Amino acid sequence: TAPGQQLRALFYALAPGESSFRTVEEVPDYVEKSIPFFITFIGLEFAVSWIQKRKLPGRINDGISSLSLGILSRLPDVLFRSIELISYIYVWNNYRLFELPWDSPWTWYLTLLGVDFAYYCFHRMSHEVNILWAAHQVHHSSEDYNLFTALRQSVLQKYTSWIFNLPMALFIPPSVFAVHLQFNLLYQFWIHTEVITKLGPLEWILNTPSHHRVHHGRNPYCIDKNYGGTLIIWDRIFGTFEAEDAKVVYGLTHPVNSFDPIMLQLRPLAQIWNTFWATPGFCNKLSVIFKGPGWGPGKPRLGLPEEIPAITGKEVPFNPYVPAYLNGYALVHFAVIVDLYTELLASITVLSQGTVLLRICFIILSLVSFGLLMENKSKAGILEIIRCLVFIGVYKLGYFRSQFSFLGYAYEVRY
Ligand SMILES: [Zn+2]
Ligand SMILES: [Zn+2]
Repeated sequence: TAPGQQLRALFYALAPGESSFRTVEEVPDYVEKSIPFFITFIGLEFAVSWIQKRKLPGRINDGISSLSLGILSRLPDVLFRSIELISYIYVWNNYRLFELPWDSPWTWYLTLLGVDFAYYCFHRMSHEVNILWAAHQVHHSSEDYNLFTALRQSVLQKYTSWIFNLPMALFIPPSVFAVHLQFNLLYQFWIHTEVITKLGPLEWILNTPSHHRVHHGRNPYCIDKNYGGTLIIWDRIFGTFEAEDAKVVYGLTHPVNSFDPIMLQLRPLAQIWNTFWATPGFCNKLSVIFKGPGWGPGKPRLGLPEEIPAITGKEVPFNPYVPAYLNGYALVHFAVIVDLYTELLASITVLSQGTVLLRICFIILSLVSFGLLMENKSKAGILEIIRCLVFIGVYKLGYFRSQFSFLGYAYEVRY
């Protein structure tokens, strides 16, 4: 794909003729190729926010945490082909009823609608079913709202979302589905920003920054609203639409208060586990798993609206004090990990399984260590020293490389 096409892919603005492929193998990895654009747009958001309001759009701790979760969520795809595609292709190969032509614009537009409607269903279930929410809440755990938040994704979520796409596999070719699955995800990147206010008539049909801000709000009027991915029409049709009104306060109604990417994934699951055992009666136990996260014995399926904490305007985001030099340290080392990660993606085909696993483990160790540093945890220093020793060890053995050859020299100097 040309850079211009790649840029337009972020806005779902490619014509059917330039984004239709005969086989899945020919479909470009639009998401991976977007990484440089993600970085460019994040820089742009910083500039615009500074010009508009003389304030930065986010914080270092929350931003590193979001990007860490973004990297973590993509790591399983380094090892295995995505479950969404495997399951889709399986159904297509074994159970398809008929084949829509892969090169027809009609198929392209139908798939756009199909993938977006499946996303609406999946997303709504992810908020209304406790066990699915445990995976999805990761995306909502940021108390800032910016382009970093867009990249804050759950590791577990794709193991719950794939099933919603399978009905399309009865008639839509996998190569068309594989394109729209990526476009639908990429479209949701740019709407995670406060620098765009309202977009006029586009607000009627498209999911916009304003609509999605409501979705990320913990104000009572924002709860369980605006589930759309690319289009907002599904919310308007099924009664889950809410327009942006009072100032939105972002994050979870009961914040996890952590920057550790593993803790952010696992603590809500641990909470379900504890509630499950603490709740009496078999049916009640099942309800803990399958009803809404706000449910309890004797309450309606989605819990009681009056139990959602009111917004006072005095909410303070989780923001432990960290000395400036530590923020700088974390930023520099995080940049090194982003470099290692992108190098891993670029050289995946020539690496042995062992090397790939080693790198993945090191990336996870590093992201956890940065998270604990940002929380100013007492054990963070020890973990960080261990991490640096591991780095020197495996670097000397030749298991790491930078994608920038000049940085290889920098690694040698720094450590
Ligand atoms: Zn959501
Ligand atoms: Zn979002």
